[in-house]
Amino acid sequence: MSSTSTIRTRMAPSPTGELHIGGLRTLLYDYALAKQSGGQFIMRIEDTDQKRYVAGAEKRLLEVTKKYGLNWDEGPDIGGPYAPYVQSKRLDIYQKYIQELLDKKLAYHCFCTADRLKEVHELQKAAKKIQKYDRHCLQLSPLEIETKIKNGQTFVIRMKIPDNQTIICQDLVRGDIKFNTNDIDDQVLVKSNGIPTYHLAAVIDDHLMKISHVFRGEEWISSTPKHVLLYQFFGWEVPKFVHLTVFLDPDGHGKMSKRHGSTHAQAFLDDGYLPEAVLNFIMLLGWNPGTEKELFTKDEFVKEFSLDHLHKKAPIFDRKKLDYFNGLYIRQLSDQNFGKYFKKFVSQISDDQIKTLTPILKERIVKFSDLKESLKFLFEDVVYDKELLLKKGTDPKLATEMLSKTKELLSDFNNLSERILNLVKENNWNTGEYFMVLRVAICGVAFTPPVVECLPALGQDNTIRKIDIALDLLK
Ligand code: GLU
Repeated sequence: MSSTSTIRTRMAPSPTGELHIGGLRTLLYDYALAKQSGGQFIMRIEDTDQKRYVAGAEKRLLEVTKKYGLNWDEGPDIGGPYAPYVQSKRLDIYQKYIQELLDKKLAYHCFCTADRLKEVHELQKAAKKIQKYDRHCLQLSPLEIETKIKNGQTFVIRMKIPDNQTIICQDLVRGDIKFNTNDIDDQVLVKSNGIPTYHLAAVIDDHLMKISHVFRGEEWISSTPKHVLLYQFFGWEVPKFVHLTVFLDPDGHGKMSKRHGSTHAQAFLDDGYLPEAVLNFIMLLGWNPGTEKELFTKDEFVKEFSLDHLHKKAPIFDRKKLDYFNGLYIRQLSDQNFGKYFKKFVSQISDDQIKTLTPILKERIVKFSDLKESLKFLFEDVVYDKELLLKKGTDPKLATEMLSKTKELLSDFNNLSERILNLVKENNWNTGEYFMVLRVAICGVAFTPPVVECLPALGQDNTIRKIDIALDLLK
């Protein structure tokens, strides 16, 4: 940790896939803690696991983080005082630390084959013992090690976990978490290809980069005692840890899953959620302001975020609540920004149509991806059944009369809403029935934005043509 009290946090994603929405929350908390005190937020790519490397993932991780407006102060693209910020470019840096551990006998060479390790694990399993390395190679003499290396035998370097010690991992939210070292495996620190594992590289980097606070998912809790030991081996100060909970599905079936929708940070943007709304929603999944206040801009959150108000209990990822936030944020958009999103999600829409529809839709939509489906009728004749047209039990003759009389009004689009309402009144038609017939005739579906208000965006000719199609269907 830094000798001064500067807060430095880091997000250290592995480019093994897309940024999960839970990862985005970790990142947001990292960002807030650093920014509120004038500290630094660092982006570091942990790509030492080349088997799990996914092409393009690093680029996408960085891009999506920027789309959410969570910019870093040091990172792979912008550099910084502790560059490089990509672990595969730091391999030379790790060498002297590996040697230090070997020299201090806190790490050792292991030449065991995968087959032997499997055998050992199976025997331990059968004896209902903890499955861990049996330290077969710990007994090797320096000469034996040298000979094996000379003979080209592959090896890994393992951490020598001390026997029967209690390791206390301090978590700022969970308190002290205790582990007995007898339950911990002699972790591989350097793989057979000579590349350090995440455990070693992350500890060295967090120390060298003067990281003061480590936020990460609770799945890393079992690794933390190994990390704490490594800090002790090197004589370094341990950063402050916060292990964040997972998100839960609302159906009570555990961890948030894809069954209910997107789980990646980018997918929420693709679905038409606004970044501001997603951030506001996830900031409250694991933290509360201690007041009833729910709406926070990113900057307000940065000011108010505090470690004291982090939760121990896993939050439910309630998509309905996210929809609610998104609706609120959509209504706050300027018409110009609303138009930009509109165009992005419905590329065929013209500027005039955007102008007509913005006031109608801005008040109603939940997310932008819904627009494509509900405005399909503007660009194509949606095929529907006669039954749908008569959904409310309307007599076909009456439906024909309704549509024919409506058609007569369409020579003039002025005051159309008012004139249509008068028509319904004069004829004593049931309003619900009338609008269902008209809506299906125009849109081909039973649920749409207010149909009459959308007609100017459809245009006179198209409106008349769609009514003719419906009249034909009713014959
Ligand atoms: N590279 C690890 C990951 O992808 C980071 C874990 C940590 O933050 O220490 O989740």
